Amino acid sequence: MFVITGPSGVGKGTLIRRLLERIPELELSVSVTTRRPRAGETDGVDYHFLSDPEFDHRVEAGDFVEHASYSGRRYGTLRSELEQRTRSGVPVVLEIEIQGARQVAEAMPEAVRIFIAPPSEAALRSRLEGRATDAPDQVEARLATARRELEAQAEFPHVVVNDDLDDAVDALSEIVRTATLER
Ligand code: ADP
Ligand code: 5GP
Repeated sequence: MFVITGPSGVGKGTLIRRLLERIPELELSVSVTTRRPRAGETDGVDYHFLSDPEFDHRVEAGDFVEHASYSGRRYGTLRSELEQRTRSGVPVVLEIEIQGARQVAEAMPEAVRIFIAPPSEAALRSRLEGRATDAPDQVEARLATARRELEAQAEFPHVVVNDDLDDAVDALSEIVRTATLER
């Protein structure tokens, strides 16, 4: 299992799309969130979009491997996204924020944890603004969270700086290939 984390806007989604093209046997876990779908997002594909009461219900039922709040919304990984795949030896990728990555490190120490870092804070801001998916106050909230997240990168065994996209895809693919061969 591969846990990919890093601040919002750093390029996790972009890198993971490229990684899945290069290593097609990898499968991406679809998370649950209580935030609204963005334009172009599809329920069940990008996320399972739930209401807050539905999310609470799934927490109480013990359905999550990990869950956390981020920018006022809730996010979580369902056990059902992982169990079948790990049993049949299919490598799974989780794209989650730091608090969730810490919970996975506790519960599944064998998971390979990778932190994606921006080349600079200015680059992160310009990517978040350039993506144009978040309102200005959301961009500021995400940048404030990013400063705390960047301090946590030392907790991660692997750090990939997403400066040149092709170089970052190469580095990420290498980590995944090496870990897959070692198992
Ligand atoms: P995340 O999933 O981490 O929130 P995204 O994958 O949505 O981030 O990327 C945020 C924005 O940054 C997107 O507009 C994407 O095209 C852009 N981006 C991603 N990687 C790079 C890179 N290496 N150089 C420049 N822009 C990038
Ligand atoms: P976004 O709203 O931009 O899609 O995601 C916001 C943050 O939530 C990102 O850092 C993303 O990695 C994280 N995230 C997405 N799914 C999950 C999840 O299942 N669990 C946790 N803990 N974080 C998630």
